[in-house]
Amino acid sequence: MERRPFIAGNWKMYLTLGEAVQLAQAVAATSAACMDRDVMVAPSFTSLAAICAATQGSNLLVGAQNIAWESEGAFTGEISAPMLKDLGVEWAIVGHSERRHIFGENNAMVNRRLHGALNGSIQPILCVGETLADREAGNTFTVLENQVREGLAAVTGQQMARVTLAYEPVWAIGTGKTASKEQAQEVHAFLRQLLANLYEKNIAEAVRILYGGSVKPDNIDDLMAQPDIDGALVGGAALKAESFDRIARFT
Ligand code: PEP
Repeated sequence: MERRPFIAGNWKMYLTLGEAVQLAQAVAATSAACMDRDVMVAPSFTSLAAICAATQGSNLLVGAQNIAWESEGAFTGEISAPMLKDLGVEWAIVGHSERRHIFGENNAMVNRRLHGALNGSIQPILCVGETLADREAGNTFTVLENQVREGLAAVTGQQMARVTLAYEPVWAIGTGKTASKEQAQEVHAFLRQLLANLYEKNIAEAVRILYGGSVKPDNIDDLMAQPDIDGALVGGAALKAESFDRIARFT
């Protein structure tokens, strides 16, 4: 099955408003030149409104870095799906490793956030990934299976059409150590088989699985050549227009 490539930039807690709008305009130009693939940026919440306005009419996708599970209420510091939709945001990252490991989000919380997105017509990108300790202990596949099973609890096959998965080994995020293309492909194939077991083969074949973890201009082509790698979630290299442009134009 043909899956449309998807290159997403996670800007984390970087860039002031002016810097973010400028970078988004540059990425929108990249996106306009890459009509056969999806290109997304996930800026901080404070830049979302301005970026949606500045790139309106372009094919650049805009996502949030997290999302609340309720649509409104006494949840200090949270941002909900209706608030994001109101700005024109259509996507949200959930379960990023920094949310899990620095802010203590567990699989149950990630699952609630994923439902918050789906119920509010926001398309979630569910991040999963093992730590170095997990990998060295031989627990990579058990950890990933738990993250997927619990992260996708009560998600229907129909809803899976709107879910993207991102495999981001924690030991590769922001460290300069990329998983080899063989390591990444092995995990992506495992995740796709797991989705086939949880849903149906045709649903698993349609889900896009992104790789994240020190993706750079010099490793994107090899990663994208793997049959089960459908795109990339890019951190550091997404903060510079030139490097993200090269990544989005992978061959
Ligand atoms: C990320 O933040 O999702 C990420 C993969 O970061 P980096 O590309 O910097 O490793």
